[in-house]
Amino acid sequence: MPSLRLKEGRDRSVRRRHPWVFDSAVDRVEGDPTPGATVDILSAHDEWLARASFSPPSLIRARIWTWDAAEQVGPDLIARRWHSARAAREKWIQPGLVNAFREVNAESDGLPGIIVDRYGPFRVVQITTAGAEAWRDRLVELIASEDGIQGVYERSDVDVREREGLETRTGILAGEGPPDLVEIQEYGLRFGADLRAGQKTGFYLDQRENRRLLPSLVHGADVLDCFAYTGGFSVAALSGGAGHVLAVESSGQALAIAKENLARNGHAQDHWEGRQADVFEELRRLRDRGQSFDVVILDPPRFAPTSAQVDRAARGYKDINLLAFKLLRTGGLLVTFSCSGGVEPALFQKIVAAAALDAGVEARIQNWLGQPADHPVAMAFPEGRYLKGLVCRVG
Ligand code: SAH
Repeated sequence: MPSLRLKEGRDRSVRRRHPWVFDSAVDRVEGDPTPGATVDILSAHDEWLARASFSPPSLIRARIWTWDAAEQVGPDLIARRWHSARAAREKWIQPGLVNAFREVNAESDGLPGIIVDRYGPFRVVQITTAGAEAWRDRLVELIASEDGIQGVYERSDVDVREREGLETRTGILAGEGPPDLVEIQEYGLRFGADLRAGQKTGFYLDQRENRRLLPSLVHGADVLDCFAYTGGFSVAALSGGAGHVLAVESSGQALAIAKENLARNGHAQDHWEGRQADVFEELRRLRDRGQSFDVVILDPPRFAPTSAQVDRAARGYKDINLLAFKLLRTGGLLVTFSCSGGVEPALFQKIVAAAALDAGVEARIQNWLGQPADHPVAMAFPEGRYLKGLVCRVG
């Protein structure tokens, strides 16, 4: 078996079961592994540490499949991990209440490079690493053997594939292709999700529990929903009796689906306005016009995918949070998120605190929010925690 031999003293993170082997920790590659091939990870003293997949062009040079010398990397390993990920979801998913969730969350479910999202009878598969590429067919076989599957669709169209030397891939993997919008159920709300071309795999499944919290915060409120996408928070706000929601979003396509999503949930358009605009600019316009709100939601895209872009990201978060604080009436709520893996929760809280200070408002945090149970974080893989949110009360 080809192997990666680590530099002296660089074996600690592997021993602690962190699933990534960085380029900088590798002393040399032995044998001639092809991209995605299984390699042994060895210490500088020739001890066997783990079995991993090899990604020659990536800074994450290898991703670990197993730390158990007796466990072979093959179809059985994929099946075991799949069944265990599925079993974990069975324990908390309430049938009839939620039918869209993440079934496989990559490293945190022991399947690096593999994401599987369920949308009712459809599954969306995303493969992001060279190592995972080899197991596409096995995965589809496992998924397709479940009851009630109408189709499996691939959305391997993410930038990270480029870093692995992989091309974009989308299309039907099994069964039927999904319709333009697949209707999903979420705690009594319904949403149409575009699995073929929507963002992520079609819907922000990771915000489910935060959307569930929102109705309890917005009764009678004037709400500003920034970065609204297909109206997840807008619909949740209206279902909680919000007086009016202004949704700001740069994608016209997303706003068109948002409008449909309101109708799906029985809301007339007269309590909702979708505005296609840049949030950074729109927040300034609203401020200049002296407008104010009871609740402002900020759910921006990732400003910092990795720690390298943290400073720039911090400025972006500070800017929008400061403006949002200025738009809030006394007693109002800021519901603010960051999904940047590179911005840690403590830093995010500091940025929001600095924004409140500069906006001249007194605020207190009343809820700390995060990602749901179907987006678990492996104990040794803190990088898996990316979504954090704060609910702050002003005045
Ligand atoms: N809150 C949504 C998810 C938001 S994702 C939900 O729960 O479903 C971030 C959204 O911000 C995307 O829809 C993206 O199109 C939009 N976006 C990105 N940059 C933007 C900008 N500068 N101004 C307005 N919208 C932006």
